Amino acid sequence: MPSCCAKKCKNRSEQGFRLFRFPKDIQRKNIWTKQCGLQPKENARLCEVFII
Ligand SMILES: [Zn+2]
Repeated sequence: MPSCCAKKCKNRSEQGFRLFRFPKDIQRKNIWTKQCGLQPKENARLCEVFII
């Protein structure tokens, strides 16, 4: 199961968190990447806590 890509975040879908794929839109993707703290991998996901 996927887990969140954000640094220090250990949220997993098993715990009831919703995880989202990175958007294709560049601006939103850049924001997500900052939230994530590192360059996301192809299948990286971010949990609802970090999505703004
Ligand atoms: Zn997270």
